[in-house]
Amino acid sequence: MSDNFYSNIINGKSVPAASGKTLPITNPATGKSLGTVAASSAPDVDAAVKAARAALDGKWGRTAPSQRTKLLFKAAQLIEQRADELARAETANNGKVLLHALGEIRQAIEDFEFFAGAATKVGGSTPPTHGAFFGYTVKEPVGVVAAITPWNFPLMLESWKLAPALAAGCTVVLKPSELTPITANLLVGILHEAGISEGVVNVVHGLGEEAGAALVEHPSVDKISFTGGTDTGRRIMQNAAKTMKRLTLELGGKSPAIVCDDAIFDDAVLGSLFAIFYGGGQACEARGRIYIHDSLYDKYVEAFVAKANQLRVGDPLDKTTHIGPLISPERIKLMESFVESAKKDGGKILTGGHRLAEGNLARGNFFAPTVIADLPHTSRCVQEEIFGPIAVLSKWSTDDEVIAKANDSIYGLAALVWTQNVTRAQKFSRLLKAGTVAINTTATALPGLPFGGFKQSGFGREMALETLESYLETKTVITGVLGKPQNPFGI
Ligand code: NDP
Repeated sequence: MSDNFYSNIINGKSVPAASGKTLPITNPATGKSLGTVAASSAPDVDAAVKAARAALDGKWGRTAPSQRTKLLFKAAQLIEQRADELARAETANNGKVLLHALGEIRQAIEDFEFFAGAATKVGGSTPPTHGAFFGYTVKEPVGVVAAITPWNFPLMLESWKLAPALAAGCTVVLKPSELTPITANLLVGILHEAGISEGVVNVVHGLGEEAGAALVEHPSVDKISFTGGTDTGRRIMQNAAKTMKRLTLELGGKSPAIVCDDAIFDDAVLGSLFAIFYGGGQACEARGRIYIHDSLYDKYVEAFVAKANQLRVGDPLDKTTHIGPLISPERIKLMESFVESAKKDGGKILTGGHRLAEGNLARGNFFAPTVIADLPHTSRCVQEEIFGPIAVLSKWSTDDEVIAKANDSIYGLAALVWTQNVTRAQKFSRLLKAGTVAINTTATALPGLPFGGFKQSGFGREMALETLESYLETKTVITGVLGKPQNPFGI
């Protein structure tokens, strides 16, 4: 195998797929090959799950929470030491700009630190019971966890799952997106270097329909933590039902940004620009529906389009670039189909709407930041998750109207409100149906604060203490304390 072959990692060993099959890995900015990755199937998944089960039944299953704290802090330290290398690998494989890749690695470090601290903070309880009994609860790891992750924030989302699973004492089989497998192997190497023993975290690469589906079906997997599309989440939920697996599903979104007449104008323009175009809009929380109060609509649209035109799309390693390529050529076709459907619905393309292919850009999957206005609320671009650099601008006049429009979606992941009126901010945060409502900030995901969806954006929360609970089972223990002879039938 060449140096650029990314193998599975099972029981601490780098192994190819049993079939010997591989899949290509491509740099989306240059179209150049980055090597190949194992294309795993059921036998590889079975070997990985067996390794995870053996580790859980072995030494790892007996580690003290305080020991796991030390290991996770060590992992955080090692990630920090190698942040630059990890960020560069992420940029090469995903196409995100280097500065953003570094920010996401920083967040992964904070996730490991948060759950390192949390490992010793979640325990059982001793609820009051009838005096004849002493009852208490203990928390036990849920077991073998399958972590299935997408391509948009590879290492960060893998950390969202690995850190709490390990803090809880679980073992893991990770199935990264086959498009972005590189940093998963680097991360698991770091976990081993930190002292987390072989078999505790395993990686199987390959297609979702094959390796992912085999994990979901496997009877010895206890929990699935999945981030990805809502349709895939639905399929996983159905397949996982057969063996009653525990589920955390972090799915798609179609999040609104609401600009009130009392907003700080420049913040509302520049913040909303970032909230949709960060990562080329390839984020589950991308706030792509921008609702602007009619009193400032014209001025806002003009400013927003002018700023969108200033965004530099190109080489993600260039420090002056704001947006890199889309992940694959298929995404370009999808964006073109969204633009076509917007035109049919009477929408005005205010800027962008096309692929960028001048000079070096021709080799990658670049799409112009696109702003569309005048679409009816029922339009595909207003209703469907686009997952790309397309912003849809609409007008509103009353709070009730904009709240109703914002909530009229199958999704409910995030919402953003720009207002200086604290009462109005609280009213919006109360009435918007979203897992996270941000006021006057583009932030959505901070370690310690739960992140997850309402409605078809999924369920379960990541990054917080309650996340740790979702990797634990509660066991109740009851002891008879009166020492009386036991003869409940009275025979
Ligand atoms: P998917 O939901 O298809 O993929 C996410 C992960 O699930 C990948 O590792 C994928 O494998 C795996 N997977 C796919 N099918 C199955 C299955 N049947 N059983 C188990 N695992 C499976 O996302 P895509 O990458 O195809 O993107 C499609 C859409 O999903 C996007 O357009 C976007 O709308 C949404 N999405 C949402 C994300 C979020 O953060 N909420 C993240 C990514 C996508 P593989 O890709 O290797 O085949």
